[in-house]
Amino acid sequence: MGFELHAAAEKALREHARLTWPQEACGLLATGTDGVQRYLPMANTASARSRYEIDPVEFARLERELREVGLRVCGFFHSHPHGPARPSDADAAAAWPRHLQLILDMGGDRTGRLTAWYKDRGSRELRQIPVQAT
Ligand SMILES: [Zn+2]
Repeated sequence: MGFELHAAAEKALREHARLTWPQEACGLLATGTDGVQRYLPMANTASARSRYEIDPVEFARLERELREVGLRVCGFFHSHPHGPARPSDADAAAAWPRHLQLILDMGGDRTGRLTAWYKDRGSRELRQIPVQAT
């Protein structure tokens, strides 16, 4: 199973990570039945630089707005300003089952290696899935 990331959504999340650097960027990925895919940047409310937290009130508002236009949250994105392109233990523990976790490694030359991870229901492990750009 691979994940197809639309070019516009990928561009938006990469841009967000670039603007937010050296802080972690975070946001939502939403999809609709007609194949629409959207990236929604969110505020990172964590005080530490090396992690991220989303505001539950902002999340609830965005989720409601998405539902009104026929979209739903299918995943979360965040950047690692200094890498690596894999989830931390905290990321794995906090990840929602059956939601995509996209991580962008902004370390090094900041060209940004993007990886995708998925946690099955009942599992504690994130497994990597291939990302295909469309
Ligand atoms: Zn992380």
